[in-house]
Amino acid sequence: MIEGTGNVHAGSAGPVILPRSEHTISRRDIDPDALKILFRLQRLGFTAYLTGGAVRDMLLGRTPKDFDIATDARPNQIRKYFANAFIIGRRFRLAHIRFRGGKTIEVATFRRDPGPVAEGAGPGESAPAYAFGTPEEDAWRRDITVNALFYDPATATVIDHVGGVADLRQGRIRMIGDAGVRFGEDPVRIWRVIRYAARLGFAIDADIGAAIREQRDLLCGCSEARLYEEFSKDLLGPQTRAVVSLLGEYGVLRLLLGRIGEAYESDPALAAELAALLEIADREKMRAPAQAGREGGDVSLEETACLLFWPWAAPQIGTSGADPFPLLKKAFLGAGMAVALPKGMRAQVIDLLTLAARLARALQDGRMRWSVRQRPQYALASRLCFIVTQRRAPAEGESFETLYQGAFPGQPAAAGRPRRRRGRRSKPAAQ
Ligand code: ATP
Ligand code: MG
Repeated sequence: MIEGTGNVHAGSAGPVILPRSEHTISRRDIDPDALKILFRLQRLGFTAYLTGGAVRDMLLGRTPKDFDIATDARPNQIRKYFANAFIIGRRFRLAHIRFRGGKTIEVATFRRDPGPVAEGAGPGESAPAYAFGTPEEDAWRRDITVNALFYDPATATVIDHVGGVADLRQGRIRMIGDAGVRFGEDPVRIWRVIRYAARLGFAIDADIGAAIREQRDLLCGCSEARLYEEFSKDLLGPQTRAVVSLLGEYGVLRLLLGRIGEAYESDPALAAELAALLEIADREKMRAPAQAGREGGDVSLEETACLLFWPWAAPQIGTSGADPFPLLKKAFLGAGMAVALPKGMRAQVIDLLTLAARLARALQDGRMRWSVRQRPQYALASRLCFIVTQRRAPAEGESFETLYQGAFPGQPAAAGRPRRRRGRRSKPAAQ
């Protein structure tokens, strides 16, 4: 293994194996269903390890979001032995083992890096589907060293082929292989490097930083669906504020969000407002953390997306009296975002932003049409209005209505159920 740069290359030394006395992972911290799958696979004669973020996070004393398993059992074998296993995946096949309550544990067969020439795959679409490999090859095909550790529950050891344990201890993000090549194979790795550096508070080695700046434009060639998938991970996952701000520092936000990202990267006042709002979202997520194997806590994707877009959108909604919906839709479509929000989601975000802006205006001028409470988006819009005007989430018993009554004590405010006009529908979600 060649050290001393941001890139780590394969050598012949074999893995470093950490016995139980040298790491902090306790079986008690592992999801019992994940443990059952691991032991079952091992009893069947397969190799099976816990891997990825779960090992990384447990070594850092954090609670993992999910427990991914890597094994030499093939997808069809996994399906054969686990009745609740479903084979999924376009880029490569893997098994999702589903449990009651929506919990899913991902079981992937060890793969090797198919190399830079992935036939038929465009940028960001790495992979011929069936390049299975050994555990060691599987470690080397991963993105950064701290994400490539295995935990073997049978021996309670951590298996490190790539120097990830040392990097965890030193707080370093290092790329497996040559950063330039690995980013070229799959530009989404640029985003992932930034994400984990931000989430873990780790340093990105200078030469990886340089490779990011050189190759960040490649992200624009990734499929919209893939970029949206990554985008949702950052909105639902922890530390959205830190991730978005680091994406901005590396000039990646302007690629992902077009003009919107450009505005955030170049206007410190907008960036400060954005940071404050995302910080609130992050704190709310901590209050209701995502459970293992499930996406998101109490804070929805739409809510964090609205907070992300608010500082850019609010000044455009304006007070001209024109319907802000088409105005904002045009601004979104014209922003040149590489991340394409699905149509329905975009419509919903625009609807929420315009409604929240309307409520915020009512707090200024007292002019409130309470019939908007009929709108399905009202609850979330009023919460957003609370957050953007008060710069904090509403506490128990607080709402937009308490703000309104505080500002205009003489007004009838929300008294009684509002009338519902017959035949009137709320703004359609599709366009
Ligand atoms: P978390 O789930 O907490 O965000 P994670 O590290 O488990 O973190 P996943 O997106 O679940 O992230 O990916 C699981 C593992 O798969 C990663 O730890 C990494 O080893 C590997 N991986 C994911 N995406 C890539 C990629 N684009 N290139 C190489 N390896 C990847
Ligand atoms: Mg994971």
